[in-house]
Amino acid sequence: MNGVEPELCERLAPCLEERFFHKFAIEKPLTLSPTQANSIRRQFFLNTVFNRMLAAYPAREGLLLGVIGSDLYKTSHNFIFGDASETDRVAVVSTFRLKPEFYNEAPDDAAVFNRTLKECVHALGHSFGLKHCYNTRCAMYYSHSIYDTDAKLTYFCDTCDKRVRANR
Ligand SMILES: [Zn+2]
Ligand SMILES: [Zn+2]
Repeated sequence: MNGVEPELCERLAPCLEERFFHKFAIEKPLTLSPTQANSIRRQFFLNTVFNRMLAAYPAREGLLLGVIGSDLYKTSHNFIFGDASETDRVAVVSTFRLKPEFYNEAPDDAAVFNRTLKECVHALGHSFGLKHCYNTRCAMYYSHSIYDTDAKLTYFCDTCDKRVRANR
């Protein structure tokens, strides 16, 4: 959604399949109009994005994971890297703050890919019922900033991995 290269999704799919043992099919791109963003914050509200995704891909099995180029927020959070709804079986990750350019650093595709993968594993973990983990290396550790995202791994710790296997 909104400026994410299809190539990024194509690269993410096999990495997510390896971690979740589910098939990841790539859907057609979706564009959310800037008029649907909060005009003052210039960010999209999480639930607006979820509702658009659920409306755009109604006939589906399994989970819906979106990757969006725009910035996201939710109630009580100035911004979020991503989130999920376990009941609606939908998850989304924003690449907006995963790009080094956001921090006035040089573009780095490998960094964007790794960060996006970590936040996708995190968001999907929520959609499989996982809560935040206190292990800073675990993908379910909550990223307060990009430093947390960089410090964690693209995998769950053993405890979270056992939980996700039970819920899968
Ligand atoms: Zn989270
Ligand atoms: Zn964990």
